[in-house]
Amino acid sequence: MILTLTTEVTDKQIEEIENIAREFGFIPEVSRGESRIVVLVKGENAILSRDKFEALKAVESITPISDPFKLVSKKWMKKTVIKVGDMEIGGKKIVYMAGPCSVENNGSTEETASAIKSIGGPGFFRGGAFKPRTSPYAFQGMGEEGLKILKDISVRTGMKIVTEAMDPRQVEIVEKYADIIQIGARNMQNFELLKECGKAKIPVLLKRGFSNTIKEFLMSAEYIASEGNKNVILCERGIRTFSDYVRFTLDISAIPVLKTLTHLPVMVDPSHPAGRREYVGALALAAVAAGADGLIIEVHTNPERASSDGAQTITPEAYAELIRKADAVAQAVGRGA
Ligand code: PEP
Ligand code: MN
Repeated sequence: MILTLTTEVTDKQIEEIENIAREFGFIPEVSRGESRIVVLVKGENAILSRDKFEALKAVESITPISDPFKLVSKKWMKKTVIKVGDMEIGGKKIVYMAGPCSVENNGSTEETASAIKSIGGPGFFRGGAFKPRTSPYAFQGMGEEGLKILKDISVRTGMKIVTEAMDPRQVEIVEKYADIIQIGARNMQNFELLKECGKAKIPVLLKRGFSNTIKEFLMSAEYIASEGNKNVILCERGIRTFSDYVRFTLDISAIPVLKTLTHLPVMVDPSHPAGRREYVGALALAAVAAGADGLIIEVHTNPERASSDGAQTITPEAYAELIRKADAVAQAVGRGA
């Protein structure tokens, strides 16, 4: 339940409310908004104990949260803006994250990074060092060596790094080298991984599983937030339907739906649903028009030679063209670029 406090509330009264909540086995979360302070009281059937709070002078009103997700619900917080360096995710401007599917050790990753940097300002650089591949015989990623390449790129270009952890044991090392931990679609319900990322000190980019509902997606975000890490970025990346000409169906409707349900930023990956590079641009523009807070796109200087996902990877030149158009769409829908 959400306790909306009076405008005159004192710190001492807030402390008392927190203590009462804990006394009854609930977890209080205080949010200091621009005009009001609210306390989210978490716990199974917390609303049944509303009488414990109703009589308090500092409590103006009590609202139950019927959603199974609480911390990430929009009912108690309007908007989360995540700061990484001097950039904001979920703010007025849309953000771009770009880079190869996998980090490679032949110089191409550094080359791609330089090209992206010259196109899109500082921004974010993506690339997988631990790769979730359908086949055990496919390239599995470079591991820590790949993370070091990413770190070098970050130091040299100033770009912030987004890279995947596939297992709870990889979270610590990813945190050491990267700025944002990606959780891939196949791991959206790897609850031990979610909990470990919930203890991390850097933001998490959580991709929607391709067979998962919006509710399941938000419950996974709730897992991360409930361990303490509130900096979760949601990423729609396509779901399984019966489409046979694209790899996945980009669920554009997920963007406005998520925006009404949660205060978390919502990004879109147009590369994985497209499956083919000629469709990436259209999906990216549709996502920005629908209200996405940013795009994460696979880019490589030589897509044909990429170690993974080459067919859906665009060149830096195509990326430059894409962000030019996406910036124009962003302006048209009232977002800065
Ligand atoms: C990726 O970003 O390269 C990736 C594997 O994405 P997803 O988990 O969405 O398939
Ligand atoms: Mn990929």
